[in-house]
Amino acid sequence: MPEIQRRRAVTVNIGGVRVGSDSPVVVQSMTNTDTADVESSVQQIAALARAGSEMVRVTVNNDEAAKAVPAIVGELAKKGWSTPIIGDFHYNGHLLLKKYPETAKALAKYRINPGNVSIGRKDDDNFRTMVEVAVEHQKPVRIGVNWGSLDQALLTKMMDENSKSASPLPARDVMMEAMVVSALDNAAAAERYGLRRDQIILSAKVSGVRDLIDVYTELAKRCDYALHLGLTEAGMGMKGVVASAAGLAPLLLSGIGDTIRVSLTPTPGGDRSEEVRCGQQILQSLGIRSFMPQVTSCPGCGRTTSTYFQELAERIQGYLVASMPEWKKQYPGVEELKLAVMGCIVNGPGESKHANIGISLPGTFEEPKAPVYVDGKLFTTLKGDQIVEEFQVILDEYVEKRYGRVLVEV
Ligand code: SF4
Repeated sequence: MPEIQRRRAVTVNIGGVRVGSDSPVVVQSMTNTDTADVESSVQQIAALARAGSEMVRVTVNNDEAAKAVPAIVGELAKKGWSTPIIGDFHYNGHLLLKKYPETAKALAKYRINPGNVSIGRKDDDNFRTMVEVAVEHQKPVRIGVNWGSLDQALLTKMMDENSKSASPLPARDVMMEAMVVSALDNAAAAERYGLRRDQIILSAKVSGVRDLIDVYTELAKRCDYALHLGLTEAGMGMKGVVASAAGLAPLLLSGIGDTIRVSLTPTPGGDRSEEVRCGQQILQSLGIRSFMPQVTSCPGCGRTTSTYFQELAERIQGYLVASMPEWKKQYPGVEELKLAVMGCIVNGPGESKHANIGISLPGTFEEPKAPVYVDGKLFTTLKGDQIVEEFQVILDEYVEKRYGRVLVEV
């Protein structure tokens, strides 16, 4: 597969995690607990980190939340988690960061929304205060522009200028340009107030896929700051997953994007870590990073009238998810493993041969046996009602043999 040429971006160190063109694209996430509830927040951050989130952002919206941050970071450290915690600030970040220096110190990065940090002011003193705290504690910031809270004064000014021009642009184009200008102007201001270029990350999030591609393509052309990529308010379930993948893929394939977040709306009581797995899957599907063994399975058709092969595919997938936390520690490289679970002999053996391990189940009216291929060669043929269990044994043995560390006696 040809390598993707990453856009050259200044590398930022966020609590030990490097973000920028010479580092892998980092997957991050955000909690939805009340930050003031230390126990729930610690639990969710640990779950996100366990799923592979390399940084986690928490809302810091009031005194209670700000006071809780050092306790959250401390509790996580006691449990062995050093995942960098990012503070998400909006209207009152300048007040909270000044009032709670321990919080400013405990956070690995501050997210500043330039559209609402200076609301109702003619100067940028609030923004400046946040940047000065970042300089004092030597913390990077993300200047995170969002079209739902875009600087209205800037947008109005640009719309007015556009309407007076000889050939006015469509309002949508002015809006996209205002997002880029807001991000770049504020980054320039942050540098004037003392931050280095390698302490600044930019984002310009919108909720439309085409808008996202356009705004980041433009932003990427006009600066070398590291970029945080994500479709904001992506939505729920399949819509959120598909829209995020559709928006992020063309950008990532063009080398744009140094860290990503997938903003899925969870179902009530749903698993927040879905957004982490979705981000990882986008990167893995594009061949950018590997996180998890991949299962190729066919969609099934009239040749598979039972649900047996769907159940097998689901059980294998579940087995991989459950095994990965241990496998990752014991078997370096196991995330590259490829499996195939196919419904019948039409494409089964062929697809199985392309995988490390493949199984081709009997379709309707086929002989009740399931050939298993290992590294492209027929390894065995399974029969009977223990096919899943026997296939798992073959899988375990393969993983141990191929990825197990060789112990050298001294
Ligand atoms: S592999 Fe067989 S069961 Fe699966 S879609 Fe193709 S023909 Fe249908």
